[in-house]
Amino acid sequence: GASIGIAMFPDDGESSEHLMKNADAAMYQAKALGRNRYCFFEPAIEARLRSEMELFTALRQAIENEQFQLHYQPIVPLSDALGSYGEALLRWPGGGSQASPGLFIPFAEQHGLIEDIGHFVLHAACRFVARSIEQGQPQSISINLSARQLAMSDLPDILSQAVMQHGIPAAAIELELTESSLIQNLTAISHTLTRLRQAGFRLAIDDFGAGYSSLNYLVELPVDKVKIDQRFIWSLFNSPRNQAVVKAILSLARSIGIQTVAEGVETAEQLAFLQAHGCHYVQGYYLARPMNEQDYLVFQALAQNKSPA
Ligand code: C2E
Ligand code: MG
Ligand code: MG
Repeated sequence: GASIGIAMFPDDGESSEHLMKNADAAMYQAKALGRNRYCFFEPAIEARLRSEMELFTALRQAIENEQFQLHYQPIVPLSDALGSYGEALLRWPGGGSQASPGLFIPFAEQHGLIEDIGHFVLHAACRFVARSIEQGQPQSISINLSARQLAMSDLPDILSQAVMQHGIPAAAIELELTESSLIQNLTAISHTLTRLRQAGFRLAIDDFGAGYSSLNYLVELPVDKVKIDQRFIWSLFNSPRNQAVVKAILSLARSIGIQTVAEGVETAEQLAFLQAHGCHYVQGYYLARPMNEQDYLVFQALAQNKSPA
């Protein structure tokens, strides 16, 4: 197969050097569109490549200069028997219009930067847990793993070494895996997950229902929790079908001993529905937004000391 980029004299360049550069850019476009095709050069291609290059450089600098931060969003139990914990979410204060993790995480994943970012997230979360233990207010945190991290065969060792280095129990760290990262190689991933669980980490499937939603994942994979995708929660009252799907996930998970978390809870009605149907935990703006470490600790302290109404 071949991916071909085409640039034409004189519109796309007046020197051979410029023509080759633009033909190259068009070739990358052909590759990005799925390979085995040709693309003519267009000025928009150059602009897109330039902005990608800028984002790449900015992310590299942000990694080197440790410009990332973690914020934490409470995950609130709906039963007294369960403890509260929180999800670590990456923030990039200097990231400008690209600062949303929904944008730069997939980009970092495609361009070989996610290992370094994942390393920062892991150690920042471990440091937070270690500090919380020192301060006598021990916290459990969940962190998001990308597909690439999950595909690394030494992931269990990397994670075990990190918790050891920071002197915290592995059980204080939960790992969130997205459905799309599970489809790559189910046998290998299942093996990695088993090792992670043996090492004491807790495992959750994130954004469940957003993608392939294989019920097989719930049955076959050694996971502790399933997080129902926000879109189901937002559209809960749009149709009886959405309610049926959420109820089915809650009841299936319960019957095979997996705990449930509903993400994106924004209203009292959604909360009441989830409570009525036996969801274990809720997370969302109605309960609390992601916040910095200090605010998060205050929130958790208040939540624990709340007197029964
Ligand atoms: P996610 O793991 O599903 O995280 C939940 C996202 O929903 C977060 O967005 C959170 O701020 C947002 N959210 C929580 N409650 C509500 C709500 O009630 N309403 C609405 N509209 N949104 C809510 P955020 O922080 O922008 O992160 C987006 C995604 O980026 C995450 O989705 C996760 O997939 C990824 N991500 C974030 N931090 C990391 C990280 O450290 N590592 C990796 N690999 N991915 C990360
Ligand atoms: Mg998550
Ligand atoms: Mg999610």
